[in-house]
Amino acid sequence: MERGARTVMVLASRFPFYNRTMHPIIIKFGGSSLADPEKIRRAAAILLSGRRRGLRPVAVVSAPADSTDDLLKLASLCAGDDRSPREDDALLAAGEQISAALLAMAIQAQGAAAVSLTGFQAGIRTGRSFSCAEVRRVDTLRLAKELKAGRIPVVAGFQGISPDGDITTLGRGGSDQTAVALARALTASVCEFRSDVKGIYTAHPAIVPEARKIKEISYCEVLALAALGTEVRQLRAVRYAARYAIPLHLRSSFHDEPGTRITADGGPAGVTCLSIAKAGATGKIALIGRGLGKEHLEKARAAAGAAGISTGKASKAEYAVILTVPAAETEALLKTLHQVFITASPRPLAA
Ligand code: ASP
Ligand code: MG
Repeated sequence: MERGARTVMVLASRFPFYNRTMHPIIIKFGGSSLADPEKIRRAAAILLSGRRRGLRPVAVVSAPADSTDDLLKLASLCAGDDRSPREDDALLAAGEQISAALLAMAIQAQGAAAVSLTGFQAGIRTGRSFSCAEVRRVDTLRLAKELKAGRIPVVAGFQGISPDGDITTLGRGGSDQTAVALARALTASVCEFRSDVKGIYTAHPAIVPEARKIKEISYCEVLALAALGTEVRQLRAVRYAARYAIPLHLRSSFHDEPGTRITADGGPAGVTCLSIAKAGATGKIALIGRGLGKEHLEKARAAAGAAGISTGKASKAEYAVILTVPAAETEALLKTLHQVFITASPRPLAA
């Protein structure tokens, strides 16, 4: 549990008035975590277990699994490819509304009060650009009322309302944006992303089996990781969270084990994780972390040399030390450096 939340809970048990002022937490569920009735019931159970621990969850949902793509295919079958962007948004917003209503019912069936809300009902005001609208403002009146009444709000992600009163969508993957915008507007203590990904790992686990889940990492390190070629699904949300100092928590939607927290400070200084990228004949391995210097670069070069791997150009950025290597040796270098900087390191990395 978030340390701030734990403190508040302790205070809440001693001073009941803290219950009323306690910050909510946002829990966003990805589409694959809402793909079938069992998964929806499991998401409901996660929200209820948060409630039992004294938290005030606000859920944000994506459309079930591939339903957004299916809706787009349907649109194309009905009207070809030259369609009204307004109607596309009206159609796509329906996917998230299905998830919201189903999850709200599942929560009710498990004995807690819940209410589904469209983006409009949740007060998400956007600009006028259909299919890529930006969130301009969140009017939290309705959400505050629902929270006060003790209901769990379940907000349809990815959508809002334009100044003309039209439904808009926020771009593919936009439910993440809904989640962080709500976190900011409600001054949530944390914004959780629940998905089939358990967190961020010290290296790609398919290449480095002993890679570990990182307990805590800073926004800047995650941005460096993405800039060096690692896919970070929530990148847009991470940028937004960094700007407004919203703590994020990437974790599994299947159980309550902690995942990876993304915060301003991150974990201890030193190497947090490694990235791998390849382009043509060259590969790039980067050590990502805070406070990395020449000594890390030299140690990395020496480790590569000892393993018989010939490295090329090396460079240092604010949060990374980057080594180039022939493409065929990239994986070997990743394994070697992971061994030296992570496995053999005493840092408490795993959750
Ligand atoms: N359902 C939308 C999409 O697939 C939005 C989201 O999942 O965040 O892009
Ligand atoms: Mg989706």
